[in-house]
Amino acid sequence: MEANLESNRATAGFTVKKEAEANLPTEFGNFRIVGFRSVNSDEEFVALVKGEIKTDRSILVRIHSQCLTGDVFHSLKCDCGPQLKRAMEMVQAEGSGIIVYQQQEGRGIGIVNKIRAYALQDEGADTIEANLRLGFDIDHRRYDQCAEVIKLLGARRVRLMSNNPDKLRASQDAGLDVVERIPLEIRPKAQSFKYLVAKKEKMGHLLKLNGVY
Ligand SMILES: [Zn+2]
Repeated sequence: MEANLESNRATAGFTVKKEAEANLPTEFGNFRIVGFRSVNSDEEFVALVKGEIKTDRSILVRIHSQCLTGDVFHSLKCDCGPQLKRAMEMVQAEGSGIIVYQQQEGRGIGIVNKIRAYALQDEGADTIEANLRLGFDIDHRRYDQCAEVIKLLGARRVRLMSNNPDKLRASQDAGLDVVERIPLEIRPKAQSFKYLVAKKEKMGHLLKLNGVY
């Protein structure tokens, strides 16, 4: 009874709920893998967690948006796969941290529409133009529930590994104290350069993009 009251109190006001947790040994080191579900949609979130997460420590955090083509198939069209790998290496080296895996494929349009967008890119459109031509906004992602996951894991002060100003802003708006931004800039490949230029120039991503290719 006491424990139930405690867990109800702990999650009051949150729209995500922790559902499961287990060990996950990886090529990069040992992590805990924690599963969350949204209470107001069918969205699921996964977090990789390492070490002790405390509100008074500044915690290394990555909010990684699912990219099936980059994360799993090692596509050269974007920098997602190498970013995830580097984030895992950095958390491992630090000995603590959180990686939230947000399953909003293709900036929220889903994998099939993302393939449609890639077909338009084959004909010369950039990543933004392709989304717009398909009738979507540039970016459908929301980060408030990712911030809730981070809070439920016990972090408040975060060092956010990201080049995306929207993620920084959303994290702050959701009540996280972003004490530092840690760039996650991957050296562009010939195939990803146009995509990264569009992200820099049209979405304001914080990329240098020098020293290429
Ligand atoms: Zn990607």
